[in-house]
Amino acid sequence: MDRLEGKVAVITGATGGIGQAAARLFAEEGASLALVDLDEGALQEVVRSIGEDRASYTVADVTDPDQSQAYINAAVSRWGGIDVLLANAGIEGTLATIPDYPIDVFDRVIAVNVRGVWLALKYAVPAMRERGGGSIVITSSTAGIGGTPEMSAYNTSKHAVIGLMRTAALEGAPHGIRVNTVNPAPIETRMMRSIEEQRTAAFDDASVTVETTKQSVAERIPLRRYGNPEEVARMMLFLSSDESSFCTGGIYMVDGGRSAGSR
Ligand code: NAD
Repeated sequence: MDRLEGKVAVITGATGGIGQAAARLFAEEGASLALVDLDEGALQEVVRSIGEDRASYTVADVTDPDQSQAYINAAVSRWGGIDVLLANAGIEGTLATIPDYPIDVFDRVIAVNVRGVWLALKYAVPAMRERGGGSIVITSSTAGIGGTPEMSAYNTSKHAVIGLMRTAALEGAPHGIRVNTVNPAPIETRMMRSIEEQRTAAFDDASVTVETTKQSVAERIPLRRYGNPEEVARMMLFLSSDESSFCTGGIYMVDGGRSAGSR
């Protein structure tokens, strides 16, 4: 119940499936939270359910430098510093082969999933240095270690943050700042519903439904199911807490065995 006692955690994408599960678990474990996302109403709801004595929020688009600096500043002024950054906001983009992939969608996916994470680190690291150290957890994906047809932008972005993580881990180590990625396989959130719907629509075949598409994705996972957000949040908790004090520069799979087999 106290694995994050006394720690302040900034979480981006905090009203989404994984971000919200992490926020609830981190609060249960004693952290104070600075939550970041796009929709104010959704943020207010999460803060209300966790308690204003435990959680604050900032509406911010993570691709914007001023808004990124502002959410870090708000966390420091509300809670006195930052110990944990969970750079988790992300979008899936669309499904299309590279020749057909819309350029504007490619740019937006890279902006949110790569630039957004880089900006979070850019502004969080100085605050963590002042604190004498901290832990940064970046949400990558199984798509960060293998190819995914028709998801070139998403796939590229999730590989890119592994390079960012490794560089930040080397830069952060002398300052006591650890940096790791969590790499989930398909998880039960809005994002997978969107991907399943897009894949199903592309078949244009009545026998292919969202349910059969989901089943075929789940069958490629050795544990034969999607993960749930809480299972990802528990790995994030470990990496955010002092229990992982010798872990930095690492890729932590939460994938039901997906990466163990051939792809
Ligand atoms: P989600 O769509 O439920 O949550 C993503 C959140 O990010 C949303 O609340 C959204 O509003 C927020 N967001 C998007 N763009 C933003 C921006 N510009 N600024 C601020 N916030 C923004 O999806 P999720 O599954 O909870 O995804 C969380 C992370 O996990 C993402 O990085 C995703 O790529 C990654 N991931 C998800 C899965 C999965 O199967 N669901 C698997 C592997 C990795």
